[in-house]
Amino acid sequence: MCRYAFKVYKPHLACFGCRKSFRRRLRADVDPHGEEHVAVCPQCAVPMADLGLDFRAPPMSARKRWETIASLWRAGITFHSCGCSGPGWRPATPTALRAFLETRLRDAIEQRARWQDILPRGFEERLNRASAMASFTRQVVAIETELAQRGTKRSEREG
Ligand SMILES: [Zn+2]
Repeated sequence: MCRYAFKVYKPHLACFGCRKSFRRRLRADVDPHGEEHVAVCPQCAVPMADLGLDFRAPPMSARKRWETIASLWRAGITFHSCGCSGPGWRPATPTALRAFLETRLRDAIEQRARWQDILPRGFEERLNRASAMASFTRQVVAIETELAQRGTKRSEREG
C-alpha cells in the first residue's frame, strides 16, 4: 500500500520567480463546495507550479537549482510519486539536466512507438492506445521545446 494513499497531503507548490515553495491548503478544508482555483503565489500572484509531494525546495539563494527545477517543470517533469520510492533521481546541474531531458525524450519516443505497434482489440483498447499516444506526444513536444529553448541559452548553461 502506498504511503500517500493513507492521508490526503497538501500539494507542494512553487513559485519560480520568488524561488519559494508553499503548501496549499486543501480545498476541502477551506471551501469544500467552491470552485477549484489556480493557486497563485502569495508574494507575486503568479500561478504556481504543482511539483508533487516529493518536491523539496532548494534554498532561495540556489538560483541554478531553481532554474533546473523550472526547466524540468516546463518539460512536464515533476516530483510526483506514490510516496513509496520517491520520484527517482533528478538532475541538479545544467549539464546533467540536458542529459536527463535527452534520456526522457528517447524514452517517450520509444514508449509512443511501442503503443503505436499495438493492434487494439475493441473500443476500450483503441481508446487506451489513443490516450497513451497523445500523452507521450505531449511529453515529446514539451521536452523538445525545452531542449530547443536551452540550446539557445548556451551562455546561461555554462559557468
Ligand atoms: Zn512568487
